[in-house]
Amino acid sequence: MQITADHVTSFLQLVAERVKEQREYLTRLDAAIGDADHGVNLDRGFSTVMSKLPTANDRSISGLLKLTGMTLISTVGGASGPLYGTAFLRASTAIGDRTTIGAEELIAALSAALEGIQTRGKATRGEKTMIDAIAPAIDTLKEQYAASGDLLAAMRAAVAACEQGMIATEPMLATKGRASYLGERSIGHRDPGAASAYLMAQALLEVVEQAAKG
Ligand code: ADP
Ligand code: MG
Repeated sequence: MQITADHVTSFLQLVAERVKEQREYLTRLDAAIGDADHGVNLDRGFSTVMSKLPTANDRSISGLLKLTGMTLISTVGGASGPLYGTAFLRASTAIGDRTTIGAEELIAALSAALEGIQTRGKATRGEKTMIDAIAPAIDTLKEQYAASGDLLAAMRAAVAACEQGMIATEPMLATKGRASYLGERSIGHRDPGAASAYLMAQALLEVVEQAAKG
């Protein structure tokens, strides 16, 4: 299985579509423990990415990811803009000038993305952030791929772990980001960033499924 720049474009289109569809849901989650802008912020960012794609000079995998990262940083704002932006930039750097990527490179790029989020946001697991959805997903992806060598099966397990991680943010006390201002009142609500991370994970799985069909 090889992922091409066209697959990356499909992934970005799918994320843009899903973010638009789920804009109100993400914003409602952020209304409960933040400032009600997460869906609106991400929709603005990914819509801008979509508007830039047709005239992008560098349509390589790393070029597309870099364009996405820079655009998210400059248009999304809030905490999630720089965090997701850094994630895409780190993935771009990890992939470098490869024209296609296989399972190992994909796993390395996703790990680099998570490291970028952790370095930038200085949050660890259990603080009720997007990391609580992303980190268990990447752990599962690595473990399952190492055990079976089947990327598609490992991705499916990873997305399930991502969903569990997202749900697990509900009883958590927020200690990072805007939700931490609420203290105990942050308990009992799903983290919006964990929900958007799950949405992106689902989109990635769909594209890996496409790539696996050849
Ligand atoms: P803001 O909180 O500035 O309004 P958004 O609403 O766009 O930004 O994004 C909020 C999401 O960002 C949170 O739900 C959380 O998942 C994530 N987040 C906030 N701070 C951090 C951090 N330090 N590390 C990782 N994720 C964070
Ligand atoms: Mg917000």
